[in-house]
Amino acid sequence: MNLIVFDLEWNIGYQPKTFRYHGAEITLRGEIIQIGAVRIDAGGDVLDTFDMTLKPRIFRKLQHHIAKVTGLTQVELDMGVPIADGLAEFVRWAGPDAQFAEWGLDDVPVLKQNLFLNGLDENWPARWYDLQRIFLQSYPRKEGEGMTLESVVDRMGIEKDIPFHNALDDALYTVKIARLLPLADALRAYPSEDAQLREALLTDPAATYYDVTTFPGRLNHDDYKTGPELCSVNCPLCGAALRVGEIWLKRGNTGYYTQADCPRHGSWFLRFKLSRRDGLHWSFARCIEATRPETLEKYNRQKARQEARLKKRAEAMQAADHATE
Ligand SMILES: [Zn+2]
Repeated sequence: MNLIVFDLEWNIGYQPKTFRYHGAEITLRGEIIQIGAVRIDAGGDVLDTFDMTLKPRIFRKLQHHIAKVTGLTQVELDMGVPIADGLAEFVRWAGPDAQFAEWGLDDVPVLKQNLFLNGLDENWPARWYDLQRIFLQSYPRKEGEGMTLESVVDRMGIEKDIPFHNALDDALYTVKIARLLPLADALRAYPSEDAQLREALLTDPAATYYDVTTFPGRLNHDDYKTGPELCSVNCPLCGAALRVGEIWLKRGNTGYYTQADCPRHGSWFLRFKLSRRDGLHWSFARCIEATRPETLEKYNRQKARQEARLKKRAEAMQAADHATE
């Protein structure tokens, strides 16, 4: 396996920047200014490293907070490798079969956004792993424990002989943590995106779920309520088309649900969980959940609050219209 542990530093703008991706508007999470990467074998031994500072073309001015955290200077950025050339070189170095491992899940989406904006293939890499997730399997988090790279390095008693927040140094620290983990087994058992999304959707052990389906790689965030393929559903008991409610309630950060009614079998919940793991596409997991008196009551309470909010907003907009007339 061609496994690469990597870390990126990226610059941000003083104004947000969006770009079009196959018609969808996407907010740029950051423009890469430094790549650090370490190729390792299954035992965690270092085979090769990659270290490059890049010259950005969108966010050219180094944001002051980024300067403070990374220790990079405007001069270093200006003298860096032009981003399109640097990314192309990184792609060549890593290889078409590269699988990536990173601390957390922030870097791959930034990488893919930057590959796309520089005319490179954003479908690469096809597979990547969150080492934080693997770490937590071996060392479950205790109350008050941080999960930043530095706090975990401290906790594991790893010697701090190089600085933090330089991309290559952070990648090397990540490798030191990886060496303490059953890496080969954990990568073999690592759940697919599909499995992770299902797991995030089906959280209530007391619930009965039907028709669990996933819809990966879509462009539109609102597909859960506007995409016919996603929001046209049938009763799990009789197959009749369900009448789907118009008010969607949030559940957690990236979950939505509404009521869906069968003429014969009454109310169900239609539930979705979303993820945007690659920074470019939305993936959805969907299920139909049997309602219970207590979940229905909770739904109705939440719905009443939501309706009150929408009403208030409509009134405020009306008042604003009057004021400008
Ligand atoms: Zn039915």
